[in-house]
Amino acid sequence: MRVINLASGSDGNVTYIEMGGKKYLLDVGLSCAKVVERLEKIGVNPNEISAIIISHEHSDHIKGVDVFSSKFNVPVYAHQSVWLGLDNKLLKVSDKNRISFDGDFSIGGGTICPVEVPHDVKCFGFSFLDDGRKISVVTDLGHLNDAILSSIKGSQLVYIEANYDKIMLMKGTNYPLSLKMRIDGPNGHLSNLDSADAVKYLSATGTRQIILSHLSKENNTPSIAYNTICGEIQKDGIQEGVDLRVDVATPNIGAFFRLK
Ligand SMILES: [Zn+2]
Ligand SMILES: [Zn+2]
Repeated sequence: MRVINLASGSDGNVTYIEMGGKKYLLDVGLSCAKVVERLEKIGVNPNEISAIIISHEHSDHIKGVDVFSSKFNVPVYAHQSVWLGLDNKLLKVSDKNRISFDGDFSIGGGTICPVEVPHDVKCFGFSFLDDGRKISVVTDLGHLNDAILSSIKGSQLVYIEANYDKIMLMKGTNYPLSLKMRIDGPNGHLSNLDSADAVKYLSATGTRQIILSHLSKENNTPSIAYNTICGEIQKDGIQEGVDLRVDVATPNIGAFFRLK
Protein backbone atom coordinates (compact mmCIF):
# COMPACT_ATOMS: atom_id res chain seq x y z
CA MET A 1 0.00 0.00 0.00
CA ARG A 2 1.44 3.37 -0.93
CA VAL A 3 0.23 6.94 -1.27
CA ILE A 4 1.52 10.22 -2.66
CA ASN A 5 0.19 13.75 -2.83
CA LEU A 6 0.11 14.94 -6.45
CA ALA A 7 -1.32 18.36 -5.55
CA SER A 8 -2.69 19.95 -2.38
CA GLY A 9 -4.12 23.37 -1.52
CA SER A 10 -6.60 25.97 -2.66
CA ASP A 11 -5.63 25.56 -6.35
CA GLY A 12 -6.19 21.84 -6.67
CA ASN A 13 -6.14 18.56 -4.81
CA VAL A 14 -5.14 15.13 -6.12
CA THR A 15 -4.02 12.13 -4.06
CA TYR A 16 -2.75 8.90 -5.64
CA ILE A 17 -3.22 5.67 -3.67
CA GLU A 18 -2.28 2.06 -4.42
CA MET A 19 -4.04 -0.68 -2.51
CA GLY A 20 -4.61 -4.38 -3.19
CA GLY A 21 -3.02 -4.12 -6.63
CA LYS A 22 -5.38 -1.31 -7.71
CA LYS A 23 -4.50 2.31 -8.40
CA TYR A 24 -6.81 5.14 -7.35
CA LEU A 25 -7.05 8.89 -7.62
CA LEU A 26 -8.77 10.60 -4.71
CA ASP A 27 -10.06 13.86 -6.23
CA VAL A 28 -8.80 15.25 -9.53
CA GLY A 29 -8.60 18.99 -8.84
CA LEU A 30 -6.04 19.77 -11.56
CA SER A 31 -6.58 19.62 -15.32
CA CYS A 32 -6.39 16.16 -16.85
CA ALA A 33 -3.19 17.11 -18.69
CA LYS A 34 -1.46 18.15 -15.47
CA VAL A 35 -2.57 14.98 -13.67
CA VAL A 36 -1.31 12.81 -16.55
CA GLU A 37 2.01 14.65 -16.43
CA ARG A 38 2.32 14.11 -12.68
CA LEU A 39 1.33 10.43 -12.92
CA GLU A 40 4.02 9.95 -15.55
CA LYS A 41 6.54 11.61 -13.24
CA ILE A 42 5.81 8.95 -10.61
CA GLY A 43 5.91 6.16 -13.21
CA VAL A 44 2.16 5.49 -13.45
CA ASN A 45 0.35 5.10 -16.75
CA PRO A 46 -3.05 6.88 -16.55
CA ASN A 47 -4.64 3.84 -18.23
CA GLU A 48 -3.84 1.87 -15.06
CA ILE A 49 -6.11 3.99 -12.84
CA SER A 50 -8.96 1.77 -11.61
CA ALA A 51 -11.18 4.49 -10.17
CA ILE A 52 -11.52 8.14 -9.29
CA ILE A 53 -13.06 8.78 -5.87
CA ILE A 54 -14.57 12.21 -5.25
CA SER A 55 -14.84 13.94 -1.88
CA HIS A 56 -17.13 16.79 -2.98
CA GLU A 57 -18.15 19.07 -5.82
CA HIS A 58 -15.83 22.06 -5.33
CA SER A 59 -13.71 22.80 -8.39
CA ASP A 60 -10.39 22.39 -6.55
CA HIS A 61 -11.38 18.69 -6.27
CA ILE A 62 -13.07 17.95 -9.60
CA LYS A 63 -11.49 20.21 -12.21
CA GLY A 64 -9.99 17.37 -14.29
CA VAL A 65 -12.52 14.60 -13.55
CA ASP A 66 -14.67 15.01 -16.67
CA VAL A 67 -11.78 14.83 -19.13
CA PHE A 68 -9.77 12.19 -17.23
CA SER A 69 -12.74 9.86 -16.82
CA SER A 70 -13.91 10.16 -20.42
CA LYS A 71 -10.42 9.99 -21.95
CA PHE A 72 -9.26 6.93 -19.98
CA ASN A 73 -12.70 5.35 -19.36
CA VAL A 74 -12.32 5.49 -15.58
CA PRO A 75 -15.30 5.01 -13.24
CA VAL A 76 -16.05 7.87 -10.86
CA TYR A 77 -17.17 6.99 -7.33
CA ALA A 78 -18.95 9.49 -5.09
CA HIS A 79 -21.42 9.29 -2.24
CA GLN A 80 -24.97 9.35 -3.51
CA SER A 81 -25.57 12.72 -1.79
CA VAL A 82 -22.45 14.18 -3.48
CA TRP A 83 -23.71 13.07 -6.90
CA LEU A 84 -26.67 15.45 -6.47
CA GLY A 85 -24.18 18.31 -6.77
CA LEU A 86 -21.90 16.60 -9.30
CA ASP A 87 -24.49 15.52 -11.83
CA ASN A 88 -24.64 18.82 -13.70
CA LYS A 89 -20.89 19.50 -13.32
CA LEU A 90 -19.56 16.22 -14.72
CA LEU A 91 -21.20 16.12 -18.12
CA LYS A 92 -18.60 14.00 -19.92
CA VAL A 93 -18.59 11.07 -17.48
CA SER A 94 -20.55 8.26 -19.12
CA ASP A 95 -23.56 6.77 -17.34
CA LYS A 96 -21.79 3.47 -16.73
CA ASN A 97 -18.89 5.31 -15.08
CA ARG A 98 -21.11 7.17 -12.57
CA ILE A 99 -21.02 5.04 -9.46
CA SER A 100 -22.50 5.95 -6.10
CA PHE A 101 -21.86 4.46 -2.69
CA ASP A 102 -23.73 4.77 0.56
CA GLY A 103 -21.27 3.28 3.03
CA ASP A 104 -18.06 1.25 2.99
CA PHE A 105 -17.21 -0.15 -0.42
CA SER A 106 -14.57 -2.16 -2.23
CA ILE A 107 -13.29 -1.85 -5.78
CA GLY A 108 -10.47 -4.39 -5.70
CA GLY A 109 -8.55 -5.62 -2.69
CA GLY A 110 -9.11 -3.71 0.54
CA THR A 111 -11.97 -1.56 1.78
CA ILE A 112 -12.69 2.13 1.33
CA CYS A 113 -14.56 3.71 4.25
CA PRO A 114 -16.15 7.14 3.72
CA VAL A 115 -17.01 9.49 6.57
CA GLU A 116 -19.08 12.63 6.14
CA VAL A 117 -17.28 15.83 7.10
CA PRO A 118 -18.92 19.22 7.85
CA HIS A 119 -18.40 21.52 4.86
CA ASP A 120 -20.69 23.97 3.04
CA VAL A 121 -21.60 21.26 0.54
CA LYS A 122 -21.93 17.49 1.09
CA CYS A 123 -18.38 16.26 1.60
CA PHE A 124 -16.59 13.06 2.62
CA GLY A 125 -13.22 12.00 3.97
CA PHE A 126 -11.91 8.48 3.34
CA SER A 127 -9.97 5.70 4.98
CA PHE A 128 -8.30 3.00 2.88
CA LEU A 129 -7.91 -0.30 4.73
CA ASP A 130 -6.02 -3.37 3.61
CA ASP A 131 -4.72 -6.21 5.75
CA GLY A 132 -4.33 -4.18 8.95
CA ARG A 133 -2.92 -1.15 7.15
CA LYS A 134 -4.90 2.08 7.12
CA ILE A 135 -4.44 5.42 5.39
CA SER A 136 -6.93 8.30 5.87
CA VAL A 137 -7.42 11.52 3.91
CA VAL A 138 -9.59 14.21 5.52
CA THR A 139 -9.78 17.74 4.16
CA ASP A 140 -12.42 20.44 3.64
CA LEU A 141 -14.03 20.28 7.05
CA GLY A 142 -15.17 23.09 9.30
CA HIS A 143 -14.69 21.19 12.51
CA LEU A 144 -13.86 17.78 13.90
CA ASN A 145 -16.47 15.52 15.45
CA ASP A 146 -16.53 12.11 17.14
CA ALA A 147 -17.67 10.30 13.99
CA ILE A 148 -14.68 11.63 12.03
CA LEU A 149 -12.19 10.87 14.79
CA SER A 150 -13.44 7.35 15.30
CA SER A 151 -13.42 6.75 11.55
CA ILE A 152 -9.76 7.73 11.10
CA LYS A 153 -8.61 6.28 14.43
CA GLY A 154 -5.88 3.65 14.12
CA SER A 155 -4.58 4.95 10.76
CA GLN A 156 -0.84 4.60 10.41
CA LEU A 157 -0.83 7.63 8.09
CA VAL A 158 -3.26 10.57 7.84
CA TYR A 159 -3.54 13.49 5.46
CA ILE A 160 -5.35 16.08 7.62
CA GLU A 161 -6.36 19.58 6.60
CA ALA A 162 -4.43 22.51 8.11
CA ASN A 163 -6.06 25.24 6.05
CA TYR A 164 -5.40 28.53 7.78
CA ASP A 165 -3.70 30.47 10.52
CA LYS A 166 -6.47 32.34 12.26
CA ILE A 167 -4.51 35.58 12.70
CA MET A 168 -3.50 35.63 9.03
CA LEU A 169 -7.09 34.99 8.00
CA MET A 170 -8.65 37.62 10.25
CA LYS A 171 -6.02 40.38 9.96
CA GLY A 172 -3.83 39.72 6.96
CA THR A 173 -6.11 39.40 3.97
CA ASN A 174 -8.52 41.58 2.06
CA TYR A 175 -11.20 38.90 2.07
CA PRO A 176 -14.70 40.23 2.76
CA LEU A 177 -15.84 39.51 6.30
CA SER A 178 -18.47 37.06 5.02
CA LEU A 179 -15.76 34.92 3.38
CA LYS A 180 -13.58 35.03 6.51
CA MET A 181 -16.59 33.89 8.55
CA ARG A 182 -17.30 31.10 6.06
CA ILE A 183 -13.74 29.76 6.18
CA ASP A 184 -13.59 30.01 9.99
CA GLY A 185 -17.15 28.74 10.49
CA PRO A 186 -18.31 25.23 11.45
CA ASN A 187 -18.76 24.25 7.79
CA GLY A 188 -15.64 25.89 6.35
CA HIS A 189 -12.07 24.70 6.78
CA LEU A 190 -9.85 23.41 9.57
CA SER A 191 -7.43 25.89 11.17
CA ASN A 192 -3.91 24.99 12.27
CA LEU A 193 -5.04 24.85 15.91
CA ASP A 194 -8.00 22.57 15.03
CA SER A 195 -5.63 20.39 13.08
CA ALA A 196 -3.31 20.18 16.11
CA ASP A 197 -6.20 18.73 18.13
CA ALA A 198 -6.62 16.01 15.50
CA VAL A 199 -2.89 15.25 15.53
CA LYS A 200 -2.90 14.90 19.35
CA TYR A 201 -5.81 12.46 19.13
CA LEU A 202 -4.25 10.50 16.28
CA SER A 203 -0.89 10.26 18.04
CA ALA A 204 -2.61 8.67 21.04
CA THR A 205 -4.28 6.11 18.77
CA GLY A 206 -1.08 4.98 17.09
CA THR A 207 -0.69 7.22 14.01
CA ARG A 208 2.98 7.63 13.09
CA GLN A 209 2.82 9.85 10.01
CA ILE A 210 0.82 13.04 9.51
CA ILE A 211 0.75 15.09 6.32
CA LEU A 212 -0.73 18.56 6.79
CA SER A 213 -2.87 19.23 3.72
CA HIS A 214 -5.00 21.73 1.81
CA LEU A 215 -3.08 24.76 3.10
CA SER A 216 -4.49 28.12 2.03
CA LYS A 217 -1.99 30.03 -0.07
CA GLU A 218 -3.23 33.36 1.34
CA ASN A 219 -3.78 32.47 4.98
CA ASN A 220 -1.08 29.94 5.80
CA THR A 221 2.45 28.87 4.95
CA PRO A 222 4.05 25.44 5.27
CA SER A 223 6.36 26.68 8.04
CA ILE A 224 3.59 28.40 10.03
CA ALA A 225 1.39 25.28 9.80
CA TYR A 226 4.25 22.97 10.76
CA ASN A 227 5.55 25.14 13.60
CA THR A 228 2.10 25.87 15.05
CA ILE A 229 1.05 22.24 15.06
CA CYS A 230 4.35 20.84 16.32
CA GLY A 231 4.36 23.52 19.06
CA GLU A 232 0.81 22.64 20.13
CA ILE A 233 1.40 18.89 20.29
CA GLN A 234 4.62 19.46 22.19
CA LYS A 235 2.58 21.10 24.97
CA ASP A 236 1.00 17.64 25.40
CA GLY A 237 4.38 15.94 25.43
CA ILE A 238 4.22 14.72 21.81
CA GLN A 239 7.54 15.16 20.00
CA GLU A 240 7.59 15.48 16.23
CA GLY A 241 10.23 13.14 14.85
CA VAL A 242 10.05 10.91 17.94
CA ASP A 243 6.41 10.06 18.62
CA LEU A 244 5.24 10.72 15.07
CA ARG A 245 6.38 12.52 11.93
CA VAL A 246 4.70 15.61 10.53
CA ASP A 247 5.14 16.63 6.88
CA VAL A 248 3.38 19.27 4.80
CA ALA A 249 1.67 18.64 1.45
CA THR A 250 2.17 21.41 -1.12
CA PRO A 251 0.72 22.26 -4.55
CA ASN A 252 3.56 20.16 -6.02
CA ILE A 253 4.19 16.41 -6.00
CA GLY A 254 5.13 15.17 -2.54
CA ALA A 255 6.93 12.05 -1.41
CA PHE A 256 5.71 8.45 -1.59
CA PHE A 257 4.72 6.90 1.72
CA ARG A 258 4.63 3.11 1.89
CA LEU A 259 2.87 0.93 4.45
CA LYS A 260 4.21 -2.61 4.54
ZN1 LIG B 1 -10.97 22.08 -1.25
ZN1 LIG C 1 -14.36 22.40 -0.53
